[in-house]
Amino acid sequence: MNVSKFFVGAVFFLFTAQMSLVHAQSGNQILDGIGETGMIARYIFDGDAKDWSRNNLHARAYGEVDFKDDEQFKKVLSLPGDGKSYISIPGESVQNEESISIATWVNFQSKELGQLLFDFGKDDRTHFFVAPFGIKEQEGFQAQVILDGKSGYEVLSPDVEIETNQWVHLALVFDVPSKSISVFVNGQEAGKTENVEMELEDLFTHENLLYLGKPIVSGNPYLKAKIYDFRLYRIPLSEKQVSRIRYIALKGGDAVVRREKPEDNLPKFSSDVPQLYNEFLTGVSDVEVETELGYLPRLPRHVKGTYRDGVKGPEVRVLWPSPIDNSEVTKAGSYVVTGRVPGTDFKPKAKISVKAKQDVKTPDMKLEVFGLNQVRLDSDTDGQQTKFIENRDKFINTLAATNPDSFLYMFRNAFGQEQPEGAEPLGVWDSQETKLRGHATGHYLTAIAQAYASTGYDEELQANFANKMDYMVEVLYKLSQMSGKPTKVGGEHESDPTKVPHGPGKSTYDSDLSENGIRTDYWNWGKGFISAYPPDQFIMLENGASYGTQPTQVWAPYYTLHKILAGLMDIYEVSGNKKALEVAKGMGDWVYARLSLLPTDTLISMWNSYIAGEFGGMNEAMARLDRITDEPRYLKVAQLFDNIKMFFGDAEHSHGLAKNVDSFRGLHANQHIPQIMGALEIYRDSESPEYYRVAENFWYKAKHDYMYSIGGVAGARNPTNAECFIGQPATLYENGFSAGGQNETCATYNMLKLTKNLFLFDQRTELMDYYERGLYNHILASVAEDSPANTYHVPLRPGSVKRFGNADMTGFTCCNGTALESSTKLQNSIYFKNKDNSALYVNLFVPSTLEWTEKNIAIEQKTDFPKADNTQLIIKGEGKFDLNIRVPQWATKGFYVKVNGKEQKIKAEPGSYMTLNRKWNNGDVIDVQMPFQFHLDPVMDQQNIASLFYGPVLLVAQEPEPRNDWRKITLNAKNIGSTIEGNPKTLEFTIDGVVFKPFYETYGRHSVYMDVTLE
Ligand SMILES: [Zn+2]
Repeated sequence: MNVSKFFVGAVFFLFTAQMSLVHAQSGNQILDGIGETGMIARYIFDGDAKDWSRNNLHARAYGEVDFKDDEQFKKVLSLPGDGKSYISIPGESVQNEESISIATWVNFQSKELGQLLFDFGKDDRTHFFVAPFGIKEQEGFQAQVILDGKSGYEVLSPDVEIETNQWVHLALVFDVPSKSISVFVNGQEAGKTENVEMELEDLFTHENLLYLGKPIVSGNPYLKAKIYDFRLYRIPLSEKQVSRIRYIALKGGDAVVRREKPEDNLPKFSSDVPQLYNEFLTGVSDVEVETELGYLPRLPRHVKGTYRDGVKGPEVRVLWPSPIDNSEVTKAGSYVVTGRVPGTDFKPKAKISVKAKQDVKTPDMKLEVFGLNQVRLDSDTDGQQTKFIENRDKFINTLAATNPDSFLYMFRNAFGQEQPEGAEPLGVWDSQETKLRGHATGHYLTAIAQAYASTGYDEELQANFANKMDYMVEVLYKLSQMSGKPTKVGGEHESDPTKVPHGPGKSTYDSDLSENGIRTDYWNWGKGFISAYPPDQFIMLENGASYGTQPTQVWAPYYTLHKILAGLMDIYEVSGNKKALEVAKGMGDWVYARLSLLPTDTLISMWNSYIAGEFGGMNEAMARLDRITDEPRYLKVAQLFDNIKMFFGDAEHSHGLAKNVDSFRGLHANQHIPQIMGALEIYRDSESPEYYRVAENFWYKAKHDYMYSIGGVAGARNPTNAECFIGQPATLYENGFSAGGQNETCATYNMLKLTKNLFLFDQRTELMDYYERGLYNHILASVAEDSPANTYHVPLRPGSVKRFGNADMTGFTCCNGTALESSTKLQNSIYFKNKDNSALYVNLFVPSTLEWTEKNIAIEQKTDFPKADNTQLIIKGEGKFDLNIRVPQWATKGFYVKVNGKEQKIKAEPGSYMTLNRKWNNGDVIDVQMPFQFHLDPVMDQQNIASLFYGPVLLVAQEPEPRNDWRKITLNAKNIGSTIEGNPKTLEFTIDGVVFKPFYETYGRHSVYMDVTLE
């Protein structure tokens, strides 16, 4: 058997804290065992009609609605059945959802026929309802879907007898992929209708009537009942989940849910199902790996294999154990680790030699990016707009029409200032009572800075963004200058950030942001404070407040702050606006004053608190502020944000990512990726190698053990949270593919940022290969066809559909925020250069023009890529430099380069950069050809489930309707392209009559993964 040698220079440590990280993040997001992201809204009705979830879909009560004391649930909603009293839920709540589940407690006070528990629909001809006692035409418990005035589908449960004056738990699950509607009474299925050939779009638009207790069709009776805890979910709940919700409520509501394996509603495969090329395997190499004392070895994820029957399979994916500490490598010597190959009995071995401490250097930053104003996106060679330009223009044009006062609304509100005429608040996560308000403003600052830098092609647009930047900074500067200063000479004030008193008339800190509850005594907030809410959330976090919507809880105060400070620095860097920098410095000092007083233990527990302690890239922002200002105290602030547990294992730095221990399994992805970016930024300034190792090791693991084919890394079924990393590495099929979507788009935005920055230190092609994958197949694919509306999660289950939101930029989630940034800097990683301007890197093949002003050279790139497999670079000006061109890993059919028509004999291995070194002359032309071929990207632990690529482009099956099984396709093992027909110029192909298109041009139902058989 072959033995390949792998030498791992620098790697990692120990993880003794037995408290698993999955557990560390099992806060209240695992609501009754169901991930928070599955919930649309929850109305507890214990005194008001507010939405308890973070989505702010507050309901309204009409008529004589009352909240009454109750023996069972303390306080509940009471509907008198008087023909005028009911609850109305915001119509947009159900817009854009694939499936819907409803669960509630109800105590009927009358058995009158025709009463409806709820009635939801677009109008009186198209709606659906539950009639617990039946309707005039048909008695008995039932759910009905009325389409265009006629009965569409019904679930009849005539045997269900519901008594009055008794609490009963009712649920309805409209499962579109399974084509079924089910009802549940007291946790048990009481009726089900199958073959439901419709989608929720048939029932709902953007304005819907969603009533509790009121019939949409007039003339019917109103509900006479008590209601408690009415919940809307976007995922189809299982019977077990419904019964668990009921059970936990009966136990008092606070019971801790034992983490269980999720119910598998993904198709299961027996162990003998062939897993692609593994079926043809005849041998797998063992490997030898060296590591350093204390550092877990980096085991190669792919090793050499031998295949039978003339099949040329790829390198074999091996699944190795992933220890949670470094106890295996605390002594010099050697040991053996055994891996496995899915779908086979092969057990490859890794012999690991643990060597004494070596002095391995981490790399310096060698490359720099070009300014956004130095790279212009061009049309393709036919003069057609590319996807890059299309998406850029959707965002730039909509951004240009925004009103900055909307983005300043909550800042003025926090400081008790008048709103200027025409100022409208934003919605969603920036509305009055949302504890994250102001986050969109941060993204907005960055977006207008980038838009300003990128619109050199249009003076008017550029002036528009210049005005917006000035205006935003002016207002934020004025507000920040008011903090901690008296309103009149000798007036009351508190300038010390560590001595902020309680709000006026309050005996404690709280996060109440309601019109009547918010404190606006900015003179007491300490010098330099800026935010769209008062300082309380920052202080409450230090005191242990958890994430949630109650006034005693918080929502990621530092996350929001990071966006604002990053945006201010972006404006400073593109425009030189010193006030922007002053605001950032003032708040940096405010943060330093407070955090530097806290014990390390407090910081560790804060930064490991689920969502509450999410701080975006505060460490990155503060390291950057140190660099911009050359004031080292900001680097100290950055380090106060070290996620010590994830980075270093514990306060003694025993292990963690710095020693190659996977310390992020099961954690919230987007909470942690920006922290890694921060580690790299701190390394840049501090040159402390352990920070580099944190970033490098994290990236390698995220890419190889957590990545879906589109480049996204989040989406766990276990733990049940679509925004978390899977609970164990390299188990995407076992623990991933969460219900309701995966791949939070903001997490991929952050992965790309991290990847780009790592490449500036280490010019490993793998990094830019990943960048290309995520950029084309997730970021470009995340924008709607006709507007800048964009995705939150991008679902990859069979027959999924992308859901786009925020077309008019008035209501932002996290991902809507990062979308503003992504689409205003699409040109930023096409080219990099050496710091000393001696080399150029061509990373991406995008029609564009680079103005390399430092060298007085322009480079024009002409191409139809990826609708063509070639590109052309034209040099304008002259000078000597290395021209490095990426030879992608997927370019396995050759990589051909001509200079001025002359074929170059160069070594161009896939997965490398090839270098042309010469003195370049004006008009030199470099032609590159890199033939595409079809290839598969399998899920590591269930390889028959795979995505199809053509070159860099993910091709997805266009699905005519919802489905919950994987589409089956059969391909030729020796040449998978041999049965694929189509046109490379349009990138449209067919397999067995099914159309495959690029994911970035797919707007309907799709299957990104197929069940692939090779023969
Ligand atoms: Zn997001």
